[in-house]
Amino acid sequence: MEERTIQVNHCSTRKEKPKSDQLQFGRIFTDHMFVMDFTDPLGWHDARIVPYQPLTIDPSAMIFHYGQSVFEGLKAYLSPDGDAQLFRPEKNLQRLNQSNERLCIPQINEEFALGAIKKLVELEKDWIPGSEGTSLYIRPFIISTEPYLGVAPSRRYKFIVILSPVGAYYKEGINPVKIAVENKYVRAVSGGTGEAKTGGNYASSLKAQEMVAGSGYAQVLWLDGVERKYIEEVGSMNVFFKINGEVITPVLNGSILEGVTRNSVLQLLKHWEIPVTERKISMEELRQANKDGLLEEAFGTGTAAVISPIGQLTWNGQHIYINDGKTGEIAKRLYDTMTGIQYGMLEDPFNWIEKVKEKSNSVF
Ligand SMILES: *Cc1c(COP(=O)(O)O)cnc(C)c1O
Repeated sequence: MEERTIQVNHCSTRKEKPKSDQLQFGRIFTDHMFVMDFTDPLGWHDARIVPYQPLTIDPSAMIFHYGQSVFEGLKAYLSPDGDAQLFRPEKNLQRLNQSNERLCIPQINEEFALGAIKKLVELEKDWIPGSEGTSLYIRPFIISTEPYLGVAPSRRYKFIVILSPVGAYYKEGINPVKIAVENKYVRAVSGGTGEAKTGGNYASSLKAQEMVAGSGYAQVLWLDGVERKYIEEVGSMNVFFKINGEVITPVLNGSILEGVTRNSVLQLLKHWEIPVTERKISMEELRQANKDGLLEEAFGTGTAAVISPIGQLTWNGQHIYINDGKTGEIAKRLYDTMTGIQYGMLEDPFNWIEKVKEKSNSVF
């Protein structure tokens, strides 16, 4: 059964909104949230917007024991004319369903979910912060709620969307970070869940991150789980290198999460006619390129930071310094273009922007 309407239960008192310049990431949530339930045989039903509140879930619910869950992350931006807008949200909902497929979670109707997100963001529009670089982070997620300790796909789920106003990622300007290449722990392997956006991937990545955080490294560079040779991702971002004029990113191999930012960066580079290749790239190749003076740039890509330049990589005690620790030309151009489009300051040649409120014929 397909639910088509969304009940709205407004909260009676509104929370105080934080100051735009004091915002952090993911600590404050808006007044309302979207919830929808799945039960067998009803399917997804009871779509509603309700006051933001704790959940009551049975301690035996499967999510607490076996981690069957998926999530997404995207942002709403305020354009100069005061409109709330999303960046390629349909990509996030497609990916949510791909993650669902991997985790044996029932598919959602992507169009309906996008409508629900738009309706929630429109209701909470006053929560979108206005100062430069700030946005409203959107976190859709699905958890398995059947009270049962048997190991099997749950027959009950909740799909929830919460919203959090977030501060500028770069408060003092875009700045390269130090990265430690991880030789011991791996994030994912082909055949595992690396391609899915699921909490378990994050749980298993914490240890490596903790080990290097104290030594001034922002993140780890993940290598492939079989040979520990080939580069996969950096922290929870995709990664790009510029070697001798060519931009290279690891080819999707079954363990890499395909970022919406990665996909957009590939499109932009092709549009600019900058040589770009998706292929396997090893740490040894990177080390050699650096030795030959050909490693020109390195950067991560993801929704939170958009572009995160890498100024130094440490691998087996050797330091690889990139572009004198400065932000590279391509990284800067990509950052300026992506954020320019997201905030409605630049033209949108690829139709990436989705206005939250349609000019006419709103679905709701
Ligand atoms: C979400 C995520 C990314 C980046 O995806 P975007 O859609 O660009 O935000 C990259 N790697 C991992 C592991 C992720 O979970």
